[in-house]
Amino acid sequence: MLGPAVSAHFNQLLRLDTNGPEEGSRTPLFGLDAEALRERMVEIGEPRWRGQQLAEAMYRQRVADLEAISTFPKTLRGRVRELGWVIERPEIIEEFVSNDGTERYLVRCLASGGAAQTVETVWMPEGDGGEVGDGSEAGRGEVAGGAQADREHRDEEWQRATICVSSQAGCAVNCQFCLTAKLGLQRSLTPGEIAGQAVSVLDRHQVAIGKDRVNLVFMGMGEPFLNYDNWMSAVRLLVNEVGISPQRMTVSTSGIVPGIERFAEEPAAVRPKLAISLNAPNDDVRSDLMPINRKWSIEAVIDAVRKVQLRPRERLTFEYVLLHGVTDQLQHAREVARLVRRSGLPAKVNLIAWNPGPGIAYGMPQADAIERFRRALAAEDVPVYIRRPRGRDIYAACGQLKRTIEAGKNA
Ligand code: SF4
Repeated sequence: MLGPAVSAHFNQLLRLDTNGPEEGSRTPLFGLDAEALRERMVEIGEPRWRGQQLAEAMYRQRVADLEAISTFPKTLRGRVRELGWVIERPEIIEEFVSNDGTERYLVRCLASGGAAQTVETVWMPEGDGGEVGDGSEAGRGEVAGGAQADREHRDEEWQRATICVSSQAGCAVNCQFCLTAKLGLQRSLTPGEIAGQAVSVLDRHQVAIGKDRVNLVFMGMGEPFLNYDNWMSAVRLLVNEVGISPQRMTVSTSGIVPGIERFAEEPAAVRPKLAISLNAPNDDVRSDLMPINRKWSIEAVIDAVRKVQLRPRERLTFEYVLLHGVTDQLQHAREVARLVRRSGLPAKVNLIAWNPGPGIAYGMPQADAIERFRRALAAEDVPVYIRRPRGRDIYAACGQLKRTIEAGKNA
């Protein structure tokens, strides 16, 4: 059964002329689920199971060119080529590698009928960003002193990794500490463009789904819950076609209440874990940092989150960016602890030392302020982890890579 968004995407993408394509017309397939692909095959007179083969090839074997699908006979490959069918998976066009092994990619997305766009996707080997919540990152790689250890890990084979995926090109939410916000919203990504970032990175690192420990976090550019239908369709593709467990995925929202309420209705079989980008101890500070808070206060967000049926042992994550002098003081930690305890939610707090970016007038927190903040939360029995800073040497702030490259091209 197609979800409404996939159906819309499907209809938009596949206006097929089975007598042959108009000159230059292309029909991208990446982003369609197996059922849609089966229907496409039937429409051109092929058996339904050919659609399943196509889905297997694109999403499991990560074939990026129809000509390379070994289960298709040559005649069928020729036929779909004549029809103008193309896979058109998002493509990594630039890559930057950090001292700590983090790889940052500029990915070109080519939505059918839409303008080509670039977004950022990040591969973090050995990193789970604290999202697994098992404390495995706690105490590692504090702001100072982590670099040497990181370099020693650089050439080791990765044991686990996290892929950070973008849901929009740019962002409209305008958080004051965020470089992506400076881009504004350029456009929302399609399901194939969101899922395709993950598939391209899985392919690059030859990840074996079901064997290798890989997490996905929807924490890149954009606000996933302002592109809800496409984002959730991408999640369904990643779960059902690519084979990644939703419990290995975390979505972060700035607090879009209608989106959280829709998310609460999703079945556990496809629902990722949830993180709320809190970043402030109270509404006054949060409204200054995140204008979205004027529309949906902290209390309104927490009320919506209460509707999400967490799995046994699952915890909500509050992400908290520490800004020097603005959100990193001891009284802020005590307020955050009270807020988390008052919510009654099974929750943990991930502390993130702010990544500096050009044109943003905040300061990085001192290492001792981070530790003092962590201790204050721990003393109130709030589970707290320090998220290890990744890839600071390669345009660490999200949005910086794209901005830097675009500025270079315009110059
Ligand atoms: S922090 Fe996230 S929601 Fe806020 S502006 Fe940046 S990308 Fe958008």
